Amino acid sequence: MTPTTPALDTFVSSVGTIVRHEHDPVMIVKQIEPLLGDVLRDASAIPPQFKRPDPNRYSQYLLHRARDEAFSVVSVVWSPNQSAPIHDHGTWGVVGVLENEETETRYRRLDDGSVAEYAKLEAVGTFVLREGQTSVILPPHEIHRVENRSDRVSISIHVYGADIGSLTRHVYDPDTRHVRSFVSGYNVPEEAPGP
Ligand code: FE
Repeated sequence: MTPTTPALDTFVSSVGTIVRHEHDPVMIVKQIEPLLGDVLRDASAIPPQFKRPDPNRYSQYLLHRARDEAFSVVSVVWSPNQSAPIHDHGTWGVVGVLENEETETRYRRLDDGSVAEYAKLEAVGTFVLREGQTSVILPPHEIHRVENRSDRVSISIHVYGADIGSLTRHVYDPDTRHVRSFVSGYNVPEEAPGP
């Protein structure tokens, strides 16, 4: 089940309007960023079961998926020192930090993509995204590694231009230059305790 809260409902409805009227990804993410900022400032926006860390690996919970899969909204929860390998998204995205901070390293692809399962990457920069801040993902400049280098749980809210959990995406090994396909899926939130 995906949650409904006033802040999330307002956000989802606004994003739905944007993606139906705007087709340029640059304009889409530009319009979504301030709206996501509003969600990040609302402490009641995301129910607790969608903010729960897993000690073994980072969690990705589905908050909303448009009926036509034109966009999806997820929460990503990182325990201390958890990270995501270098990956791509295959669609536009907007990321905002709800709690604590995330460290992101962006990569540039140096090869032309003509060799199957091969990519030569170069790191272009590492920056820290802090609570309340947003960042955008715009293919083809969208390959990154994300880490929680802190000693506290970090939570971010992401919006993507597809059902991100069912998209075939790629993980990159910068040393061997090997590229592997993956489908992330979603974590299932534990049921909230009854009244
Ligand atoms: Fe990512």
